[in-house]
Amino acid sequence: MFVASMTAEKPFDFGTTPGKLPKEVVPTEYSIRIIPNIDKLSFTGMEMVKVNVRAPVRQLVLNALELEIASASLDNDPLPKSAIKIDRQNELLTLALPSELAAGEHTLALSFSGKINQQGQGLFYVRYQEQGTAAKKTMLGTQFEATDARRLFPCWDEPSFRARFQLTAVVPENWLAVSNMPVEAETKIDNGKEVRFAMTPLMSSYLNVFVAGELESIETQNSGVQIRVITTKGKSEWGRYALDISAKILQYYNDYFGVPYPLPKLDQIGLPGGVGGAMENWGGITYFEGGLLFDPEKTSDDTKHDIFAVIAHEMAHMWFGDLVTMAWWNNLWLNEGFASWIGTKSTAHFNPQWEVWLRKNKPRNPTRRVGIAKEQAMESDARSTTHPIQQPVVTEAEASSAFDDITYQKGQSFIRMLENFLGEDVFRDGIRRYIAAHKYSNSTTADLWSALSETSGKPVDGIAAAWTEQPGFPIVKVRRDVDGKVSLRQERFTVNFKNPTPLEWKIPLTYFVLGEKPASLLMTNKTDNLENIPPDRTLKINVHGGGNYRVQYDPASWDLLLGSLADLDVQERVNLLSDSWALVQADRAPMSIYLGLINKLPHSTELAQWDQIINVFDFINRLLIGQPEREKFQQYARSILRPVFEELGWEPKSPEAPNVLTLRGSLIAILGDLKDQDVITASRQRFQKYLNDPKSLSPDLRRATIGVVGGYADESTWNKLRELGLKTTNIAEKQNYYDALASARDPKLVQKTLEIALTEELPSSRAVFLVAKVARESEHPDLVWQFARQNMKALLAKIDALEINSYAPSLFTFFSEPARVDELKAYAKTNLPSSSVKEVAKAVDEVAFRSQFKRRLASQIAGWIDHRTARK
Ligand SMILES: [Zn+2]
Repeated sequence: MFVASMTAEKPFDFGTTPGKLPKEVVPTEYSIRIIPNIDKLSFTGMEMVKVNVRAPVRQLVLNALELEIASASLDNDPLPKSAIKIDRQNELLTLALPSELAAGEHTLALSFSGKINQQGQGLFYVRYQEQGTAAKKTMLGTQFEATDARRLFPCWDEPSFRARFQLTAVVPENWLAVSNMPVEAETKIDNGKEVRFAMTPLMSSYLNVFVAGELESIETQNSGVQIRVITTKGKSEWGRYALDISAKILQYYNDYFGVPYPLPKLDQIGLPGGVGGAMENWGGITYFEGGLLFDPEKTSDDTKHDIFAVIAHEMAHMWFGDLVTMAWWNNLWLNEGFASWIGTKSTAHFNPQWEVWLRKNKPRNPTRRVGIAKEQAMESDARSTTHPIQQPVVTEAEASSAFDDITYQKGQSFIRMLENFLGEDVFRDGIRRYIAAHKYSNSTTADLWSALSETSGKPVDGIAAAWTEQPGFPIVKVRRDVDGKVSLRQERFTVNFKNPTPLEWKIPLTYFVLGEKPASLLMTNKTDNLENIPPDRTLKINVHGGGNYRVQYDPASWDLLLGSLADLDVQERVNLLSDSWALVQADRAPMSIYLGLINKLPHSTELAQWDQIINVFDFINRLLIGQPEREKFQQYARSILRPVFEELGWEPKSPEAPNVLTLRGSLIAILGDLKDQDVITASRQRFQKYLNDPKSLSPDLRRATIGVVGGYADESTWNKLRELGLKTTNIAEKQNYYDALASARDPKLVQKTLEIALTEELPSSRAVFLVAKVARESEHPDLVWQFARQNMKALLAKIDALEINSYAPSLFTFFSEPARVDELKAYAKTNLPSSSVKEVAKAVDEVAFRSQFKRRLASQIAGWIDHRTARK
């Protein structure tokens, strides 16, 4: 059954695009001048905005937030002070006009002032220690997505109001200033210099950028584009890897999209704070520097994967997001799902050995799920708190909370499934057609489907609708009938969800009989059949796990699969592991199905397979904190993982595949958590040696080894780790030490680590994540919540707009006691704004799920282990 309200979305049309701003007045060109005052953490500004009045109006309505408007004039006539109204609640600036304004071209001039923020919202400052010196420095940056350009200058701050922007800024003379376009002129003035940037092409306001400070850069040229990596002083050489891959990726996208990169330059800017992840400002992408810079002497190889993936994602936005922008935030998935998908696709293209489609997605925020991207999204999407990829967005807070794993990862999985179904070349031709048709303009999901339908000749919108406009996803149940007939039946797959609305999908199903070529079937009804499948042959549905659905086999089919595991490649094995773990979560199968599968796996040291298992074991180990069955489980888990680690050994052999380097680190970390005494002792010994001779410990093992040492630290070890963390200015090294502090289990040390979050020791976004990291690692989420509740105001002051609604509720997701549900509800009622409602509901669902799952798992695991021991 399709949801009745599911109506096909319309192609882009400016007049009917959602939003708060009236559509009669459209800005075409902004000239903005900003003068920051670093000492006072404030700025003054002026702007001239050319507007096109499409129908006569009596007032102008645009966005402004936390700005004081000093004066306004229209076509050189000053408006009285009384004509200027600020509506704080709706973030609007209204200018009442003395008489009706005729249609045509007009010019609005405004002067205003505002503040420079501590958190990454609007114009912000970052204080940091300069590389190689003891000097404390300050720099400036901006973060505007989704709705914060209005904090720097009054503007029509909705994505469909595209305009050209020309920025001028006054900065100290020894500063480097960066914006979307190259510098057009620099003029020395009293106390500094005035930097004027070239005018941008037509773009959405949230894509503006301004970064300035004592910065340096390295650069290259590719396809006529100047590419730079910009950092604070002393760090630019660590941008070499980012610079090299940026050039490669630029060429790849120029070809894929069929339109060359449209700006004269592309800057990759590393900031020591203010940005949590990265932001795709057109021509000037900002990154938290840890996600961009790479010091081969001190950073693990694994970091390269992360840098490649984030650069590939952000650069894809230069076309998909910036050149063509979603009309409104309800189509955010189109930007993010697509950039995530092609980011992964291009990363896989250049680095096939990394197995990126199977790799764990490591969220920087420790409260987010860890796992393969597709699995992260499916876990959220199975819950009652899920939402369709395309969801209505009315308020600014709703726009901010749209940035979740459904938007990114389900979006990516669906696009991947669609590409598989339509074929790689046909899909690319559709994307080229879409980009060509909508460049320098906006679009909706419907526009993408129509481009893909035209190139493929298939009804893409009919297939897509159920995936983008309904919540959830299906499970396909497989049953062998007589005479080689296999019957398939779909239903909605849910976890911890009473009475879900039954839904159906058009499923682009793929399958193969072992030893034969893959085939596909578009499953358009609740049931369907596969014919001529020999009853004694292994059948695998969902080739390479490329489809966004679960599969449950009948016992006969499952036994055939278990008997053929050695003949299935790692992608198929990971898919079977993921699906069977999901069946356990959904209470559709007992835990023995998952543990039995592990038992039958062929001998292998493939990272992706062990990643999946380590991730599940880590979840169980944390869920069972305080349970009598935990020790038994730890013993069992060690017995599975220990032999793999022994085969790899502590010392890297050269040459060795990068995936083996990563697996060794993951095994050390999990065995440490599982209280493997040998690994704990060996980690301590290696750490002592490393203190005298840093080269003795490979960069690929440092994170895991130091983490184990931190987990079991006494006070003097804790002090040593902190001293090391304070001393180093290397980003990755610093992160290793502070992560290790966050792992300390001793309650007294937990308190000491938490206190760090209130200091300026870490960049603000890292400081607030430190608290969540302690909640996850220390095994004392209660102490963390107590601390966070007492210091919430100070913590929230450090957090950026995208995380603010979820911060307090997400700290509850480490609990599994039913009483915490009531505590969170009560806390939310008196302390949280109404914009946190969805985040509170998600956390409530998570705690409730964990509490019932804990009981079920504990008894089933104990039963399995006893049974296994008895058989031996
Ligand atoms: Zn993105």
